[in-house]
Amino acid sequence: MNRLDPPDFFDDDAALDTLSLNSRLKCYPQLQAHVAAIKAGYQQYVAANGNATLVNNVPLPPTIQGHLKALYASPPASLAYIGQIRDESDADCCPMCGSFHSGTLDHLFPKADYAVFAIFGRNLVPACKCNSKRTALLAGPNPGERILHPYFDDILRERLFVARFDDLGPVPRITLRLLLDVHHPNFTAVRFHIQNVVERTSILRHIRTSWTNLIRRPSLTAAELRNAPASCQELSDILSYELDRQDVTHRSRNNWRSVFISGLLDDHVLNWLFTAFHRPGWRVDGPLVDHIV
Ligand SMILES: [Zn+2]
Repeated sequence: MNRLDPPDFFDDDAALDTLSLNSRLKCYPQLQAHVAAIKAGYQQYVAANGNATLVNNVPLPPTIQGHLKALYASPPASLAYIGQIRDESDADCCPMCGSFHSGTLDHLFPKADYAVFAIFGRNLVPACKCNSKRTALLAGPNPGERILHPYFDDILRERLFVARFDDLGPVPRITLRLLLDVHHPNFTAVRFHIQNVVERTSILRHIRTSWTNLIRRPSLTAAELRNAPASCQELSDILSYELDRQDVTHRSRNNWRSVFISGLLDDHVLNWLFTAFHRPGWRVDGPLVDHIV
């Protein structure tokens, strides 16, 4: 998950004008009569900050909807920006779920339901396969429940959730814990996004694998952990440094690696790890438990 700067190397309105005047396209000349309505739709999308509960659909005839979807599927030269958004996106961390995959474009407002935004740059967000797992979901039945928008929701810059480890041992119970206060104005939207985008991915499996690596060979989590930390504070400092390193490397505080490391900084986990490092017979960079599954 991450806030992205919206792509600004093209002009959506100008691209629409060029398309509507291109007599070699199938949408010519029917598209011309709908350009004003589509531009108005773009304007209200931006005015509503891409908020899934506020942006209005624009009713267009089925033929025009079909033309817009076809233009997305086979973009002419004037829509070259679609390929550029996909190619130039930072593939390091998915802005929708925080995974380390990317490579596809997500229509945040699905083109099947919102054909008006099929070629709108602000609606095209680089994403991973969480895109298809979300399906067409935009909002929930209760007030404030909505998908977050990487081009508009500044809160995505903040650390929003961390791993929570319980029943510590070789196979702990792992859940995701929100950091926002329940009274925060974006609490409901963030919770909805995490439940309906992030939790549908393989994030818990990723965190479980990271935990197994940590207790098998601590240096896989942070190089300094090949030696036992001298105090709980030193352990906390090492993990905090590693967390910062991951945040900076992936330019996101909600990438899956940071979600894992920040969960280790909970007091009960720090204490458990520190005790495990100092159990009798522990050898440098060796397993932290006796029986590893
Ligand atoms: Zn994703």
